[in-house]
Amino acid sequence: MDQQPPAPLETITEDWERALCVVAHPDDLEFGTAAAVARWTGQGKRVVYCMVTSGEAGIDGMAPDQAREVREAEQIESARIVGVDVVEFLRLPDGVLEYGVPLRRAITSVVRRHRPQIVVTNNFRESWGGMSLNQPDHIAAGRATVDAVRDAGNRWVFHDQVEAGLEPWGGVRQVWAAGSPRADHGVDITDSFDAGVASLAAHRAYIEGLGWADFDPAEFLEGVSRAVGSRMGVRHGTAFEVFSLTWGD
Ligand SMILES: [Zn+2]
Repeated sequence: MDQQPPAPLETITEDWERALCVVAHPDDLEFGTAAAVARWTGQGKRVVYCMVTSGEAGIDGMAPDQAREVREAEQIESARIVGVDVVEFLRLPDGVLEYGVPLRRAITSVVRRHRPQIVVTNNFRESWGGMSLNQPDHIAAGRATVDAVRDAGNRWVFHDQVEAGLEPWGGVRQVWAAGSPRADHGVDITDSFDAGVASLAAHRAYIEGLGWADFDPAEFLEGVSRAVGSRMGVRHGTAFEVFSLTWGD
């Protein structure tokens, strides 16, 4: 065997107070990131969620108008479990989300309102690593989030928002893409792992709708977080690809 073990992960910085998580769908944060959020809110940090769509096309046996309502409620509950009490829904179309200026504009407004130092999004690379393809909404939302973070700091981009009273915000230091195959950093979630499991389990209707007969949130998250943890010398970990927005980092 000459296979190299996966590279060790550097520890993510925690010297910040406010984070904003922007993802395409309800449940995107719960497939790995929620336990990290529970750790941060436990440290007294403020974390806000923004769902770009309401995941209304995510349940095969349920029409979008009903699914939107069910999934928003499940997301609010799953956020509450990890200490997040603000969940915004942009209600853009699930499944056919388009990367572009309108999406950047919508996310820029959220960044300017909440003024985070760290923005968390999902993996927006083509794949999750190996053969497993990423989904187009994730790619669109993640790319637009990175761009919106820069747009938010420029008063002349989406200037109508500034004229309407939203100050530019250039204070985001890093964007973290969770679950990226190019992850280079991680956080120890050993102590908040159970909250992460409960947060995923809160997506009950969605999980039932997947039709994965024996899906067990604990078992699933255990598999992912153990593999990450082994690259950090801890029991459970969550991995991120870090994009720096400041010079010299
Ligand atoms: Zn998703």
